Amino acid sequence: MKKSWKSLTAVLLCGLLLIGGVMLMMDAQVSVADKKKPDSLTPSSPAAVATGNAGMVVTAHPLASKVGAEVLKDGGNAVDAAVAIQFALNVTEPMMSGIGGGGFMMVYEGKSKKVTIINSRERAPKSAHPRMFLDANGKEIPFPVRSTQGYAVGVPGTVKGLYTALEKWGTRPMSKLIQPAIELAEKGVPVNRVLAKSIADNQEALSRSAAKDVFLPGGKPLKEGDRLVQKDLAKTFRLIQSQGWKAFYEGPIAKALVQVVNEKGGKMDLNDLKRYQVTIDQPLWSDYKGYRIATMPPPSSGVTMLQILKLLDEVKAQEKAPRSADKYHLFAEVSHLAYSDRGAYIGDPAFVDVPLKGLLDPQYVRERAKLVNPTYANASVQPGDPWKYEGRQPQKKGTQQEHPPGQTTHFTVADRWGNIVSFTTTIEQEFGTGIMVPGYGFLLNNELTDFDVYPGGPNEVQPDKRPRSSMMPTIIFKDEKPIMTVGSPGGSTIISSVYQVIFNRLSYGMDLKAAVEEPRIFSDKYPMIRWEKGVPDEVRKELIKRGHQWEQNPKEIGNANAMWIDHKTGVYTGVGDSSRESTAIGLWKKK
Ligand code: GLU
Repeated sequence: MKKSWKSLTAVLLCGLLLIGGVMLMMDAQVSVADKKKPDSLTPSSPAAVATGNAGMVVTAHPLASKVGAEVLKDGGNAVDAAVAIQFALNVTEPMMSGIGGGGFMMVYEGKSKKVTIINSRERAPKSAHPRMFLDANGKEIPFPVRSTQGYAVGVPGTVKGLYTALEKWGTRPMSKLIQPAIELAEKGVPVNRVLAKSIADNQEALSRSAAKDVFLPGGKPLKEGDRLVQKDLAKTFRLIQSQGWKAFYEGPIAKALVQVVNEKGGKMDLNDLKRYQVTIDQPLWSDYKGYRIATMPPPSSGVTMLQILKLLDEVKAQEKAPRSADKYHLFAEVSHLAYSDRGAYIGDPAFVDVPLKGLLDPQYVRERAKLVNPTYANASVQPGDPWKYEGRQPQKKGTQQEHPPGQTTHFTVADRWGNIVSFTTTIEQEFGTGIMVPGYGFLLNNELTDFDVYPGGPNEVQPDKRPRSSMMPTIIFKDEKPIMTVGSPGGSTIISSVYQVIFNRLSYGMDLKAAVEEPRIFSDKYPMIRWEKGVPDEVRKELIKRGHQWEQNPKEIGNANAMWIDHKTGVYTGVGDSSRESTAIGLWKKK
């Protein structure tokens, strides 16, 4: 009897302990879940301009912006969102960027207040050499030919770049962040006006590879309103989802990539992919009118954009009305000076010494500004000598060699913790080389055409080297606080889009949307000027009198997606450029 009482008590005790334990566990689960799910945020309606007090996403495509906003709403940070956005853009804007390319992701960490760049620029394979874009007679292989061959493909960096960023700052697994892009690729996305035009313009290049089945089904280009389904791309994303970056750099994707590059006249091997390394770079910093600008160092051209801003300050361009002949004249003249220095001195800093200090030295800027005549275009601009402002002997100098500007995509994200991403990402020309990796559904870049065709300068082709870029994700600070982000696609026109948005906002004091929409010009050398609709006719006539020439028709320049942060109200304003279906979504938390 005694014994059975004892065992009954034991059973009861055990039962109580068990119930208590389960309750404790449930409690623990609740508090872990609480920690994981911070306050829920409400996304604003998607629009060209949107606001939010707990986050912001601006991309060139509404579906990619939606994907980013969902990540933020779900408790992910700005880097998590940027990773998900890059994959979504690969699906929705496949001609502009993707896993077959590279890019520059600039990250501002809210906590440490540090700015860091993940540089996933494509590299030349081991087989590359300085004369690879010249024919047997030493003549330049025409751009339409050299930009569509296997030898134009740089070893892609995007996948490693995204993994590196996630490892450093991410709070969500890649397997989760890539999922929305898989769904978009499988279900299909509507073809918008930008993609429809791009397909129509590039039919010939697309018809030469597996891309034809995706973009020209039945031999006909997809049109606006059609559905773009990318089953092979979804399959590739699933491989990355289950096997990680190795699937891309060492696994089945790598093998297929190398094979098609070599079939199309290139010389890349598995080792080129296996050896690919991203770099973690520090931004190039400079002061401008009481602001601090963080932008892209070499191998990109942030220094050229900064030089232009400083030259404009020197020639007092802000005193000229935004649509006056004097302003456009000054914009063109200082651009010629800065772009000629760019051609002479910028290359991959792992291979060449770039005189950054000299190029931005106030005395050098003053010396260069003296070459600007207020009423005549300077027909014989030469690069200057920045070395002497560094107390050094001149070193090797290149010549200005340009090719038709490509297209890429720029986006920006901010989260509730004050982290900010400004990210420009590319496959160079629209659809890159036009070569799609068969069975894997992604396009290969033609980034190596960003190298100089003629050897001898800092941007000549060399194995492992990264071609000079113009992409420049930028973050601007006031009193140590980030207040603005900006960037744009458009090859060498990027420099011009970025300086003009900054100048319009900070020097003219326009609001950010007006600063983005103000008609831009681009002129890298005497005498031709590219222009956007809105430059007044009488102003163009006046500039012709001063020696300039205008392209026959206006043309959109870039797609400058940007963000403004008001620290008094704590509100982010996202601004999408009307040149594409750019969409801002703000995130709101209840006060
Ligand atoms: N290849 C270009 C660059 O790195 C980017 C693509 C573009 O927008 O043209 O400057």
